[in-house]
Amino acid sequence: MTKLDRTTTDTSKSTVIQEPELKDSNGNYDPYLIAKAAISYLIPYTNEKVRDYSEDIATVAQYMMLEALKGKYGLDWENDPNFTETPRRVAKSVVNDMCKGINSEKKIKSILSKTFPTSHKDLVASGPIEFYGLCPHHFFPVRYKCFFGYIPKGTAIGLSKIPRTIKLYGSQPILQEDLTNNYIKIFENTIDNYGCIFLVKGQHGCMTCRGAEVGHDYWVTSISKTGSFSNPNGVALNEFFTLIGENI
Ligand SMILES: [Zn+2]
Repeated sequence: MTKLDRTTTDTSKSTVIQEPELKDSNGNYDPYLIAKAAISYLIPYTNEKVRDYSEDIATVAQYMMLEALKGKYGLDWENDPNFTETPRRVAKSVVNDMCKGINSEKKIKSILSKTFPTSHKDLVASGPIEFYGLCPHHFFPVRYKCFFGYIPKGTAIGLSKIPRTIKLYGSQPILQEDLTNNYIKIFENTIDNYGCIFLVKGQHGCMTCRGAEVGHDYWVTSISKTGSFSNPNGVALNEFFTLIGENI
């Protein structure tokens, strides 16, 4: 393997970097090795953590996506002003907006732990809570419409905290089923309650724009319930659906 001498103007800081391996064992260019090399190029030569490189790495991925379209269809994106800054723009929105809920459990627990004493022992329901998430299989947007209910057991939570934490947790590439089950578990384990219910409806871009090509009114519905809501003939469950005026 040849060595690439990448020398800075300050010769005392010259660094020799090994040329990356880009081919697989059959001698063919391997896209994963190329991507890995591109990412490692962004890592600073020193061990210092100078700054967060996540946006840069995501920008390389978007650059490669446009290059792929240039290769396949001849898209002259570099000479089209519409694409100026597109790789960086997409990277920013994915990293900073659409994925900000990754590993947010601790933050959500902290937000939900600010409670108030209450003697209210009946249903508290909120919704619709609407936002966009991402499907982990295709990275297509999912339009969510959620309803949440719980029965307080001595403590109540500030009402804005429920939509805030649901939106935060849903801002990540996650299965709708896991969003439903995981969020209710976090809530259940943070606040004393007699039961919780979480109804999530999702319009999946990967099903409307491609694949099954279902209509735009096609909703995937998932529901998770605990405590008083677990009884299928119970008052709590009926009261929740009457209150939100939504069918599943
Ligand atoms: Zn999908």
